[in-house]
Amino acid sequence: MIRRHDPFAVRRARKVAPSTDAKASSPNLPPAECVVAVPGRSEQQLLVVAKAARALAGEERPVLALSSHSPEALSAHAVDLVVREEPEVLPAVWMTLCPYAIILPEDGGRYSDLGRRLAVDLELSIAVHVVAIGAGLVWSATNLPGKEVVAPLPRILLVDRRISAPAATPRVTREAVLPPLCNVPEGGPRLLRTIEPEPERTALPNARFVVAAGAGVRDLGLFHRFVNALGATPGASRNLVDSGQMPRDRQIGTSGERIAADVYVALGISGAVQHLEGIDDCQCVIAVNTDSSCPMAARADLTLRCDAETFMHRVLAHLDRRK
Ligand SMILES: Cc1cc2nc3c(=O)[nH]c(=O)nc-3n(C[C@H](O)[C@H](O)[C@H](O)COP(=O)(O)OP(=O)(O)OC[C@H]3O[C@@H](n4cnc5c(N)ncnc54)[C@H](O)[C@@H]3O)c2cc1C
Repeated sequence: MIRRHDPFAVRRARKVAPSTDAKASSPNLPPAECVVAVPGRSEQQLLVVAKAARALAGEERPVLALSSHSPEALSAHAVDLVVREEPEVLPAVWMTLCPYAIILPEDGGRYSDLGRRLAVDLELSIAVHVVAIGAGLVWSATNLPGKEVVAPLPRILLVDRRISAPAATPRVTREAVLPPLCNVPEGGPRLLRTIEPEPERTALPNARFVVAAGAGVRDLGLFHRFVNALGATPGASRNLVDSGQMPRDRQIGTSGERIAADVYVALGISGAVQHLEGIDDCQCVIAVNTDSSCPMAARADLTLRCDAETFMHRVLAHLDRRK
């Protein structure tokens, strides 16, 4: 979706520009015309957002990241400045700095939502599912495989994990402080509260607790009852997705989603290399499998050698007793 109306010039006129004196006495002040990057939480989001930001900034503009990552972690991604602020300050950052563009990850959750709200509330042009940037244009993926739409460079970019951009050359990242932020005018965006999506609908890359089924699980009704009872987010191996038993957006792995869960439970999943690649960033992995010599068991922090369905029945019975 591209919005043609772009009051960028109006916003620029309204900006409270820091005086030359203020700049001289505040060496940390981010320079004007910077590209603001919101690198998200996972390594993958950081990588794609930083790539896109550097492609857009070129050599002449600095990239300023709003991030909790350390300057050392960001220097490899060619970020010039880091400010330890939450992305909710973006409206005020926009009003104060008038950056060249803002880049967020298209994560199907918090950041996708934030970018779209910002565009609507501040009437800024936006491109979503951006997969390529170049020569004042952006390319966005569509639902049709291999078909992309091209549009003029917008002010807000939500970048897809498939983005193709040259790898960035490392830079020295400095920690910066923002100048006093302008008030967002009446009618502008205000964060009233954050509504977390229901766990079973949470996009896999955002989920903190994922329970996934593989070919070793035959009773999918039982699997869904189990996942709901635990308040987890469901996932699956490609085996169950290809057979139509689980939707495509639940597939974990090379050709599915990469997850960064605190806890990942793999029920009846052998742990093929393509699946393991998708769980690289998980903290604690628990395998439930009848074969304790499978690759998933080698990756897991804890392996339970048992029938997956018996395991689910027992846990559900235990939870029932505790009610
Ligand atoms: C190009 C390419 C891309 C791919 N991308 C992906 C991807 O993104 N994600 C992905 O998952 N796969 C992907 N695959 C497929 C992958 O190679 C495996 O075929 C797939 O992951 C296997 O799924 P599975 O573990 O569910 O099934 P299986 O390999 O058949 O394993 C079933 C497991 O269940 C166990 N089991 C059996 N019965 C029980 C029981 N009663 N209780 C407990 N355990 C039991 C078995 O011991 C076994 O370990 C890809 C393949 C290719 C070629």
